Order: sequence, then structure tokens, then C-alpha cells
Amino acid sequence: MIRILFWLCALLCASQSFAYVRTTAQDGSPIRWLEREIYWFLHESGTQYLPFTELEPAARASFETWNAVECSDFLFHYEGTTDDDHVGYLISGENANVVRFVPADQWDNDSEIAGLTTVTYCLEKQGRLCPFVGRILDSDMELNESFHFTTSSTEPQFDIQNTITHEVGHILGLEHAPDPESTMFASAPYGELSKRSLSQDDIDGICAIYPKGVPDPEAPSYENDGCSLTRNPRLPCWMLACFLLLPLGLRKSPRPFSLPPSKRPFI
Ligand SMILES: [Zn+2]
Repeated sequence: MIRILFWLCALLCASQSFAYVRTTAQDGSPIRWLEREIYWFLHESGTQYLPFTELEPAARASFETWNAVECSDFLFHYEGTTDDDHVGYLISGENANVVRFVPADQWDNDSEIAGLTTVTYCLEKQGRLCPFVGRILDSDMELNESFHFTTSSTEPQFDIQNTITHEVGHILGLEHAPDPESTMFASAPYGELSKRSLSQDDIDGICAIYPKGVPDPEAPSYENDGCSLTRNPRLPCWMLACFLLLPLGLRKSPRPFSLPPSKRPFI
């Protein structure tokens, strides 16, 4: 009887447990960065609803929250502001991972969506640019200004740090999680601040994708290139690598990458 009760309990507990979810490519491969250090920019226009002196530290705090996870060695580096408006990845052009605000009258998505993170990743294993399916090449975050984001901890409306911390999870390759307590849960009520900090499921997620000291099993070695792909994508070294390593065959493929890339609603 005791044993039966134990197993019943175990089954019930299991049915109530939650877990992180990884974003996958069309073939089921989990998407993730090849690099463990990524550079990001904040668009110089900021938002009309917040002084830049309030917005910038709040946005940086969101990325730092993920940086602080000890069981992962993934790091975001803030590179300052940019005027780059492009969303998605350019095969022959400069790319930057940008956080930007979109005025309400220019937001062409569902008005209930507060933030969209567009992730471009490899659909096929091809050449050195795409050493594995699901390699993330670029990520851009758009925030819907109609939500009038705030930073106040005393009278929060739609907290910007709460929102960006969630979106950063998508940049890392995490999908929406079923646990309402998770930062990666798909929705957030007005005034919520809890997504500023990570749940254990969120921590388990980033550490499963980017475990500290353990390289990606599909990551190739570029040690002899004299050109590290972990560099700032704006640096000439990165661009040189892109041009030189771009296989000719890619040009024959109408959609070598996930274009349009996946978009993740957050309400
Ligand atoms: Zn989301």
C-alpha cells in the first residue's frame, strides 16, 4: 500500500512539474549560438516614454541577469548604441544584434504583442557558416511602444526589464515554458516584475544549451584561422569570414536561412 501510494505520488508530482523548452529548427534540431560571447546594441532612438538614462541600465540589467548564471559560460556584451534598423541577417552586409523600439503606428504585428525577437538561424548544414542546423546567426529584438514601458519599481505599468529579460531567453534559443513562474512563460500582466529574475527552469535551460566549460558537440574548430568567430560581428574579421566562407551553392537555394525568421510573441 505504501509503495502504491508512493508511485501514485511520484506520478502526480511528475505530471505537475514544469521544464524549460528549447526552440527548434524545422527538422527538430535545437537552435543555439556557436559562440559563447555575443555582442548586442541598443538602438540610439530609445523610446519616447523613457529617458535613455533609465532605459539603458534597465536593458543592460536584463542581459546581465542571464550572464550571472553560474553553470553557463554564455556572455552578452553591451556594445553601446547603433542606428541600425535592419531586422534579420544579411549574408553580404553588416549585422548587429539590436534592441529597438517600434512606434505604435509602425507596429505591423498583433497589437497585443509587446515584444518580438527575430532569430535567424541555419536551416541546413552547409559550409563553415552553417556547421550545424540551428546555428543562430543574428537576433534582433523589437518592442511595441504602445505599451508605454516603465522602469519604476513602485508604480510599474509594463516593465521594460521584465520584458527584455524574457526576450533575451529567446535570443539564447529558449521557447516559451509552461510554468507561469518562469521568465520564459508566454505572457505577463501589467505591473509584473517577477520575470526580471530567472526561475530554476530558466537556469536549467541556459545551462543545458551552454554548459560552462563544455563546448557544443557540433562546434567546429577554427583555431588555425587566425580569425575567431566569437568576435564582434561588426569587426572586419567577422565579415571577412562570412564572405570567404560563403559557399557558392547557397546562392542557388532560395531560402538557405530561416527567412523570414521565427518570431516570438510576448504579451
Ligand atoms: Zn516570448
